[in-house]
Amino acid sequence: MTALPGDAERETKACGCKVGRLIERYGLTDLNDELRRRWTGTGTERRSLRELERNVNIRVLDSAIAASESPMTGENVEAMYRFLTDDGISSGRRIEVERRLARAGVNVETTLNDFVSHQTIHSHLRGCLGASCGGELSDSERLEKAGKTVFSMQNRTKIIASETIQRLTDADTVSLPDFEVFVEIQVTCEECGRYMTAATLLEQQGCRCQGKAERASGGLAERPPESTETVD
Ligand SMILES: [Zn+2]
Ligand SMILES: [Zn+2]
Repeated sequence: MTALPGDAERETKACGCKVGRLIERYGLTDLNDELRRRWTGTGTERRSLRELERNVNIRVLDSAIAASESPMTGENVEAMYRFLTDDGISSGRRIEVERRLARAGVNVETTLNDFVSHQTIHSHLRGCLGASCGGELSDSERLEKAGKTVFSMQNRTKIIASETIQRLTDADTVSLPDFEVFVEIQVTCEECGRYMTAATLLEQQGCRCQGKAERASGGLAERPPESTETVD
């Protein structure tokens, strides 16, 4: 009969998602605490989901190397991770790293499959750990705050550009009798190639190619009852 599991132990056994399975397989017992702290933290402790993705995968790689038959020593695991995952790295270098890992007894295919995406980490944080980012802010508060940041930056850019051009026209370096500057932050979705303004992005809560954006712009939008128009 074993003792009752402690808090940390219970926590690692509580979820069966990919991150949970990695914690068990690689013995990353402190990972949940670290993820929670890094994601909800403030100031310099705070990490983005992409950074967390990188951190988790480097720990996975590091653990896989440490657990291998003849662990390599003195290797730069961060550099190895970059060689394995960065699209900008030539396939020759990637294969070289894979061979080195295989020689040390690391199951490269399993390890690569164990790498997690930032989306997986996000759903683990929210779904399994019940963590929420940004303190007590709700989604709409966070959107409002982001909107203010983007639009004040937009306005500032507009003012600075206008003043700069005005100085040039005053000095007759530029001939422009009257002018107006437009600044609109544009965002492109790398997945579908759509361009949208930052305002549209925030309003739709994402790109239209993603499920959430469709729900936000379609299902939840209030339309006047007499309207029979179909949207899109
Ligand atoms: Zn989980
Ligand atoms: Zn898209």
